[in-house]
Amino acid sequence: MTATTGRRLLLVHAHPDDESIGNGATMARYAAEGARVTLVTCTLGEGGEVIQPELAHLTADRDDTLGAHRIGELTEAMRALGVTDFRFLGGPGRYRDSGMMGVPDNDAPGCFWQADVDEAADHLVAVVREVRPQVLVTYDENGGYGHPDHIQAHRVAMRAYELAADPAHRPELGAPWRIAKVYWNRMPRSVLDAGLAATAAEAAFPGTAQPADVPGVVADEVVTTVLDGTAHAGRKAAAMAAHATQITVNGSSFALSNHLGQPLFATEYYQLVHGQAGPGRPERDLFAGLDTTAPTPSEGNTR
Ligand SMILES: [Zn+2]
Repeated sequence: MTATTGRRLLLVHAHPDDESIGNGATMARYAAEGARVTLVTCTLGEGGEVIQPELAHLTADRDDTLGAHRIGELTEAMRALGVTDFRFLGGPGRYRDSGMMGVPDNDAPGCFWQADVDEAADHLVAVVREVRPQVLVTYDENGGYGHPDHIQAHRVAMRAYELAADPAHRPELGAPWRIAKVYWNRMPRSVLDAGLAATAAEAAFPGTAQPADVPGVVADEVVTTVLDGTAHAGRKAAAMAAHATQITVNGSSFALSNHLGQPLFATEYYQLVHGQAGPGRPERDLFAGLDTTAPTPSEGNTR
């Protein structure tokens, strides 16, 4: 089935849990408003650590079954957000978690960091041409914070954005589709500083994260778009908690396996990098300025 009218949002992420931390409120809000929300996750996060001691045997250096477990966590998180369309790039396990920058796993055959960008992008081109999103959300060129899988997710998403619109490229993957607006995930510095101070004061965790631990941090003026997801904060917290091997949620903060507290933001921030901004600054809606009710011009010649 090819969608032709209505709002459609595509998010591209590296590992299960990144979507809930970065965009959980956005995803819950648009899903609740009836938009089609599609998540593509590029790896199973096989290289992650595990918070619960009783599940420590799942890790790559022991049973190496964390990937399958994290599919279950992602499924539960999507249930919490009300998102039904979530997929893995090229299918589950097609690309393996590459580990943090500089570790030997970066060189392992089959890891996402070693993937050919054009080949990986074609899996996403097929999704773009099927779903026909008006809006794409992914990371900046540094993947937000330098993780190889996040950098690669950025490269693959931006390449797919180009290739999906090119009528000469792989016509068998579907009719060409131009995504109207592309956003990168952002965190304004002043918001982060205030949030970290509040987290430190709350002291729900033994320590507090540093700004460098948080992805996508930029000067406030770089942010173009502010998504108020306050009404969906509970859903976001539930989705994050569903990634129980990776995240501990405690009140208005959370921690990863380093047990350092971070603020759990119900408002999420973006930078528009392709397409026309809607009226007002900052934008308050990723679809601002788009007519998403009219049939698309190419509707007549698609499947
Ligand atoms: Zn990640």
